[in-house]
Amino acid sequence: MIETAYGENFACSKIAPVRHLSGNQFILELFHGPTGSFKDLSLQLLPHLFAHCIPPSCNYMILVATSGDTGSAVLNGFSRINKNHKQRIAVATFFPENGVSDFQKAQIIGSQKENGWAVGVKSDFDFCQTAIKRIFKDSDFTGFLIMEHGTILSSANSINWGRLLPQVVYHASAYLDLVSQGFISFGSPVDVCIPTGNFGNILAAVYAKMMGIPIRKFICASNQNHVLTDFIKTGHYDLRERKITPTFSPSIDILKASNLERHLHMMANKDGGLMTKLFNQLEEQQHFQIDKMLVEKLQQDFVADWCSERECLAAIHSTYSTSGYILDPHTAVAKVVADRMQDKTCPVIVASTAHYSKFAPAIMQALKIKEINHTSSSQLYLLSSYNALPPPHEALLERMKQQEKMEYQVCAADVDVLKNHVEKLIQNQFV
Ligand SMILES: *Cc1c(COP(=O)(O)O)cnc(C)c1O
Repeated sequence: MIETAYGENFACSKIAPVRHLSGNQFILELFHGPTGSFKDLSLQLLPHLFAHCIPPSCNYMILVATSGDTGSAVLNGFSRINKNHKQRIAVATFFPENGVSDFQKAQIIGSQKENGWAVGVKSDFDFCQTAIKRIFKDSDFTGFLIMEHGTILSSANSINWGRLLPQVVYHASAYLDLVSQGFISFGSPVDVCIPTGNFGNILAAVYAKMMGIPIRKFICASNQNHVLTDFIKTGHYDLRERKITPTFSPSIDILKASNLERHLHMMANKDGGLMTKLFNQLEEQQHFQIDKMLVEKLQQDFVADWCSERECLAAIHSTYSTSGYILDPHTAVAKVVADRMQDKTCPVIVASTAHYSKFAPAIMQALKIKEINHTSSSQLYLLSSYNALPPPHEALLERMKQQEKMEYQVCAADVDVLKNHVEKLIQNQFV
């Protein structure tokens, strides 16, 4: 399965190579997969594991909420399982209709295959994620789908453990690459800095540390939607007075970081009762506060800060000017925070979570390139002609060429409307 998932689908034979940027900063390039974001690292493997593990007698409808990159990665991944599996495994991805970049949207819609569907929702990512969690918990509905259509619902967001597991691997390989390239000796520490939305990637780094990789600090980077970094600084998770602001780094425009609950549970010695209390409080009162001891425990390993829109573009510009390397906006967010928060006493591995091609308009603005032509494809070709590092992403360029106008559905921000839609897809797919 690993051979199938990573053998030929990645543009770089190292799959997740590490590149020295400058000084003590290293870039872990996680964007060489078919859809150009780090989501491919888990979503090329997960479908094979999934198809292997499920019992043969049921159909499975996988529901996914996406803040931009999961959608195309999950559709791409599940389109690669074999024909027999496709007849009983299908995916529906729900994305915020107006909350993803134009390129991401075209990519999600264009990734629809015979067993995969894209659905625009007239709301933000948090609504999509909460709505899907509510559908999973609605036992009347899930029971009905089993009885009536022989179909079980499942998830492929990072709330699914199968997503996190493959992500542990590259945190280990990045460390070992620094050792084998002679930048550090085996056993000496590194920091990691990760642009964080749903807390999945950074949690995988925590697991890598628990398995023995000597990661000293986890530097958590946010954009303007910085509820998570505020929480790490204060222990107060506060959604009151906050609304998602669209940014240049849409894949981390998230206020309810799903995997945080997992991490807190572990920090609080698996006190499930406490988690239920805190997260019910978040649901009902829009905020919770953890006690001082837990905050201190969290801060032993975690450092956090956020990056403004202006700083993000400035970092893309200055990195390109000094090293000829183009950072995608998410990676730039992490770089800004690493510059500010890391003390330079050990190397820092900055996770580069997407290829810059996915965010051409932001890059054009950052590099102050006057755009005459506004189409995504012309911007992409123009940027590719710059001979910058990293090289252009061939699979993404290829995708632009085949700009079929595919149909997709748009839903109102209403859980019942989503449920109806799920049932309709199941009927069309399996019945
Ligand atoms: C999904 C995503 C993130 C956030 O990852 P989490 O695991 O949700 O924290 C960051 N950058 C990009 C480009 C992404 O697609």
